[in-house]
Amino acid sequence: MPNSFSTRPPPFCPNPKCESRTKSIAWRFKRKGFYHRHYRPYKVQRYFCHHCHRNFSSQTFSTTYWLRYTGLLEMLFHRLVGGSCLRQISRELGVTHSALQHQAERLGRHCLLFHEQLRPKGAPVEPLVLDGFRTFEHSQYWPLDLNLLIGTSHFVYGIGEAELRRSGKMRPAQREKRMVLEAQYGRPFPQATKRSVAELVARIVPEGSEATIRSDEHQAYPLALQELKGRRLHHEQTSSRKSRTTRNPLFPVNLADLLLRHSSANHKRETIAFSKRRQGVMYRAAIWVVWRNYVKSRSENRKDSPPAVALGLIQKTLSIANILEQRIFPSQVEVSKWVKQCYDGRISTRRLKTNRIYEPKLAE
Ligand SMILES: [Zn+2]
Repeated sequence: MPNSFSTRPPPFCPNPKCESRTKSIAWRFKRKGFYHRHYRPYKVQRYFCHHCHRNFSSQTFSTTYWLRYTGLLEMLFHRLVGGSCLRQISRELGVTHSALQHQAERLGRHCLLFHEQLRPKGAPVEPLVLDGFRTFEHSQYWPLDLNLLIGTSHFVYGIGEAELRRSGKMRPAQREKRMVLEAQYGRPFPQATKRSVAELVARIVPEGSEATIRSDEHQAYPLALQELKGRRLHHEQTSSRKSRTTRNPLFPVNLADLLLRHSSANHKRETIAFSKRRQGVMYRAAIWVVWRNYVKSRSENRKDSPPAVALGLIQKTLSIANILEQRIFPSQVEVSKWVKQCYDGRISTRRLKTNRIYEPKLAE
């Protein structure tokens, strides 16, 4: 059950334009009665801000803000990283598919910020392994790479996306269909991988620092790394034909690929639960990253700590309830342009006429 702040004082005024947020003055607020709900939490504390005269409640600071049923988020999180698809979860929980989809997007946004808050911001203390996880959006005519940057501790530092052109073996009819689709919707940007990898590495390795990046022999990677100025990057390449054992330098990404495909219904082979939008891929990947880094033990047999504990970023393994304990406002976390774009749902799918964008009802 996600907590509310009913017994705890609110940490700040939720209005980002309030002078208590913009000026360094002591914040003054008062309690202003309760409101009652038909579902948990039954009684919610209301507050009043003396500076901006806005009302808010303890629910404003909960991850279940504006939700009628507050117990769904945690169950949904477990099932999304347990290989279930939304329609299966919808049948089990008796909730509509669209309601679950909105809550999955809410989880995705929360996890993006949760990870950004906790991930190391300085020079990486371990070698990083870079790889693109191949999947697709909407149909197999629209492949994409989910780019991953993972440490040797198996901590996932960051994710990115690159839209790709369908390639490989195709029947003449498939080649024809690709031509028709590309004429109608345009072709993906040819240097999308280079652009995405450069952005991802720049986000994780700050200027003025040094890092070792390990990858396969993808041609775009050296070009992307050359673009990044002001960083000392040592690039080590390993052939992807080399046997994928634990001694392979690319083992962290090989394992992550397996785990990602094993735990996410949208990435299973020959599935009908594939993601219909690239934005959906990224939200679900963000949920997976939080689970992998802060919840799941590195070894299932040893039941040891997750990678974030091994790196000293958190003291002990977090539960999903811990992760959902407190709402994170975008104004609280400084994020890169790409993360902000992903948070706002602005990663558009070429094949669709309209792409849903996240527009909060209240300024955050
Ligand atoms: Zn205020």
